[in-house]
Amino acid sequence: MIVGEATTRIGRRAAETENRQTPRPPLTGEPLALDLVNTTFIRGGLRGSLVDALATPSDLDLWLAEHAEALPDGPAGWTSTPAAAVHLDGFRRLREALRELCRASVAEEPRDERAVAVVNRSARLAVNWPELGGPTEPGPVVRWAEPDPHMVLLGAVAVSGVELLAGPVRHDLRACAAPGCILYFVRSHRRREWCTPGCGNRVRVARHHRQRRS
Ligand SMILES: [Zn+2]
Repeated sequence: MIVGEATTRIGRRAAETENRQTPRPPLTGEPLALDLVNTTFIRGGLRGSLVDALATPSDLDLWLAEHAEALPDGPAGWTSTPAAAVHLDGFRRLREALRELCRASVAEEPRDERAVAVVNRSARLAVNWPELGGPTEPGPVVRWAEPDPHMVLLGAVAVSGVELLAGPVRHDLRACAAPGCILYFVRSHRRREWCTPGCGNRVRVARHHRQRRS
């Protein structure tokens, strides 16, 4: 009986996973590397729960489609071939490394060598060079060292991470100051303190309640 119940429960959970709608991160439009980092977020504030918007290969395809304009064309075909588990693994590993490096950068701590190695290894996947096209092609043709289109895109996100963490923009990298928020953003104007207006409102409401109680 118990076995039967457990099997039903597992069956139901599998069905839920299939029907699951990819959760949408509250913040996008930051540099590619940060948009990747921000695919894990807390829903529901201080006592909320951790949400992962990059849990399945199809989540990854949705994320890539949403960032198509910021991504290089890469070797033809990334839009027609669905992402596989190996691609998801690569993006999740890069995400973990970038999150650690963002944390260290904001805290002004030394970079973790293993995280650096993950980013640098991924960045090499974006190696490309221009070649002359055929007799009737006037412009250059971009060639990629890596034949797997999804891996080229992984490389492009890693390069975005290098530019973010080693370029001048690193001085404007911020962790959202709202309690219970784990998002990072590039301070687009001097007074920006929060990842989104939602976080700012939450902090203001909490402050208001505290003041009324005291
Ligand atoms: Zn926030």
